[in-house]
Amino acid sequence: MQVDNNRVVSFHYLLRDDEGNELGHSGEVPVTYLHGHGNLVPGLETGLLGHEDGERLEFSVPPEQGYGAHQNLPSQRVPIKRLLGGKRPQPGEVVAYQADDGTRQATVIKVGKFNVDVDPNHPLAGQTLHFEVEILEVREATAEELAHGHAHGPGGHQH
Ligand code: ZN
Repeated sequence: MQVDNNRVVSFHYLLRDDEGNELGHSGEVPVTYLHGHGNLVPGLETGLLGHEDGERLEFSVPPEQGYGAHQNLPSQRVPIKRLLGGKRPQPGEVVAYQADDGTRQATVIKVGKFNVDVDPNHPLAGQTLHFEVEILEVREATAEELAHGHAHGPGGHQH
């Protein structure tokens, strides 16, 4: 079955930067997502579109289709209690926190008693993303998954 809107796709990936350094990869459980609902960065969804289970792909995603350009933004103060995981991070560490528009990732610049100052750019902003992908499974989404806008089960959303 081909990757298309309103289908659930499971895949393994390896992500590298321009120099070939590894930036990330899927774990033991493949990534499972609902296509066409903004669950992945746009360039990754575009790269997978129209391909089938069993295929191995290599493609590159420019920053505009990935995590955006690296912008000169003022640092942002985030209460430590709003960090996911709730632990005191170290400067340079990448943290996730709850913002008004959902979960965000950022790099810690400075750690205070109750707050951290973060660089609000996504840690992968400004990077061209080089993906190696293996598509494992493509299936039709359930009515419940379509209503929620995300995939359920292993590698997807667990309620
Ligand atoms: Zn759900």
